[in-house]
Amino acid sequence: MTQSDRIVSTTCPFCGVGCNLELHIKEDFIYRVTSPFDGVVNQGNLCIKGRFGYDFVYNKRRITTPMIRKTRQQPGERTQAFDLSEWQPVSWEEAMEYTVDRLVEIYQRDGSHAMAVYCCAKATNEDNYLLQKLFRSEFRSNNIDHCARLCHAASVVALQMAIGSSAMSNTASEVVDSDVFIVTGSNTTESHPIISLQMKAAIKKHGAKLIVIDPRRIEMVDYAALWLPEKPGTDVVVYSAMAHVILKEKLYNQKFIDERTENFEEFAKSMEKFTPEYAESISGVDRNLIVQAARMYATAKTAAIYWALGVSEHINGTANALSLINLTLLTGHIGRRGTGLNPLRGQNNVQGASDCGAMPWHYPGYMSVADEENAQKWEQAWNIEPGGLSRQLGLSTTEILGAVGPGGVRALYIMGENPMMSEPNLNHARQKMEQLEFIAAQDLFINESTSFADVFLPATSWAEKEGTFTNTDRRVQRVRQAIPPVGQARADWQIICDLAKRIEKRLGRPNSAFWDYKHPSEILEEMGSVVKDYAGVKYNRIEEVGLQTPVWDDQHPGTPFLFSESFPHGLGKFHPLTYHLSAEMPDAEYPLILTTGRVLEHWHGGTLTRNSWMDDLYPEALMEINPVDAASLGLNDRDPARVSSRRGTIVLRVHVTPKVNPGVVFIPFFYGPAAANLLTNDALDPQAKIPEYKVSAVRVTPARYEELPQPEVAQRRGRY
Ligand code: SF4
Repeated sequence: MTQSDRIVSTTCPFCGVGCNLELHIKEDFIYRVTSPFDGVVNQGNLCIKGRFGYDFVYNKRRITTPMIRKTRQQPGERTQAFDLSEWQPVSWEEAMEYTVDRLVEIYQRDGSHAMAVYCCAKATNEDNYLLQKLFRSEFRSNNIDHCARLCHAASVVALQMAIGSSAMSNTASEVVDSDVFIVTGSNTTESHPIISLQMKAAIKKHGAKLIVIDPRRIEMVDYAALWLPEKPGTDVVVYSAMAHVILKEKLYNQKFIDERTENFEEFAKSMEKFTPEYAESISGVDRNLIVQAARMYATAKTAAIYWALGVSEHINGTANALSLINLTLLTGHIGRRGTGLNPLRGQNNVQGASDCGAMPWHYPGYMSVADEENAQKWEQAWNIEPGGLSRQLGLSTTEILGAVGPGGVRALYIMGENPMMSEPNLNHARQKMEQLEFIAAQDLFINESTSFADVFLPATSWAEKEGTFTNTDRRVQRVRQAIPPVGQARADWQIICDLAKRIEKRLGRPNSAFWDYKHPSEILEEMGSVVKDYAGVKYNRIEEVGLQTPVWDDQHPGTPFLFSESFPHGLGKFHPLTYHLSAEMPDAEYPLILTTGRVLEHWHGGTLTRNSWMDDLYPEALMEINPVDAASLGLNDRDPARVSSRRGTIVLRVHVTPKVNPGVVFIPFFYGPAAANLLTNDALDPQAKIPEYKVSAVRVTPARYEELPQPEVAQRRGRY
């Protein structure tokens, strides 16, 4: 390190693990990323994205000047503009005034229901808090959501129903204190790599036993004592059959049930039909494995459950998560170190964006918008006239697009999200995007969604701004500005404040809300003045190590694990359950089940990683297919194949592997030229409104090489 070098401590911008990073800077250029050996989250370990994936900051394709589309877009005729020649670079003043003109015009003409916003799980807590505040306080709309709806909404709803709290109950690294832990619906090594390291250490160094319940032979199966290879969409049956065994063999924790739970009798009755034999007939899992798993989990001194999107992204997602919660309440494996209910959150700040109210039914702090007392509290905090905030539940992400059209949603503001990659049934989503009257995009790149916009507001990356992220185990950590903004890019929170002040003025609501923040720390303090879980989260307390919410006051040390004495609801509630088939089952026309997910090298819709050199490592999506199915279709490894569902068709290469069972194919969803979500089903879980990404019926046929999408090789070569 030379004299001019400096190191800035910050938090990883990719996944929800929230690894501690050190950015090495020379002449305002990030040239290396390391991690402190004593980093509380990751102890010096980083995955490939955290260590090397930051070069998107300097990508030549990044947009760093405000731009307006040269041709005014009309509803129904809206097109995508990937080519910069279709955009006019403008000043910030012009871009902001244009955005305000269009938003206010639509609001004044059509009202609150015409306005909608996608907040962003990649952005900071402060950015998300402000954007939901803007739409609630200025446009009086609760049509506010973000990609949590598309990943863990079912977990959130189920946890709220059963215990009144929706975050991970324990710290991820506590897995080393578990005797037994279940990993289900989580490809942990690829989606949460550092947590998978901690899991492997728990097994190798501490003798913990792992039970994997997953349709794919993911890497964690190599470390597992048991693997239950269920058919996609049959989770509730497998988990409930485990509960059936625990009940039948009286392996439950009577004291915990008596003192900490309610509704046990009704639940126990509903479990009678879930015999291991019945579960085997539905899920394909050997009945003996179910019995062994139930005994192993129930008789452990400390046992935890870790799950991810394989559990929640179903029309039965809420029931799936409830059946895991039932198992925990039945055995009392909660409220102690090394136990708990641990939904592994996906993006770097999806926990924080949810905490900060980027949701249609809740203000910050999960306070229902329909509750009069809550509304009054926020009216007071934001200096809004009594009755000013809407008490109506807003629309969720998928519902927002569904409502686009005359008399429905007309204007959409998108901060950092990429719905044209992340929504299910993308052909339908495309039709809806085309019908919008106005779209504003606040982002770093022209992508599948921002290319639809009328105005592009260039935001800074995480390395160019101050703020906080809340990681998957509720730890609020600092994000620090390491380099000056690139080009004319502005921090998201500054863009939002500028916009809000202009909208206020235009709507004649001067001083109705406070937007003059000097630093993001003031934004978090404003939220903490109402949201008691964040009351003690102050920047001066998290300079070295983050605090885990809830943090009740300035002296509170934070909460590594929850529910030692009671649940927020008081008692934990058992829920009786029934099993329903997935919305779309394979048939003669579409005989295979498609399931989707992530790969190590890419993150979410790929906006950042496809613009980093991660893309050189993993340049195109591959479809995993079992050797038996591949042989019957005449496909060899890396052959091109056409995959069709009732909603669309893509062409991509196959990876022939026993990792997926016969009858199932897997496609990662980061790759725009063959977007997996062109195929997925937009059927929703009725309670959580989460789409069923994990089960779609598809047909696979061989394709010609010429049909493969041509990756933008030339563009990628000329990146810097
Ligand atoms: Fe970043 Fe997640 Fe990798 Fe850690 S595990 S370095 S947070 S992407």
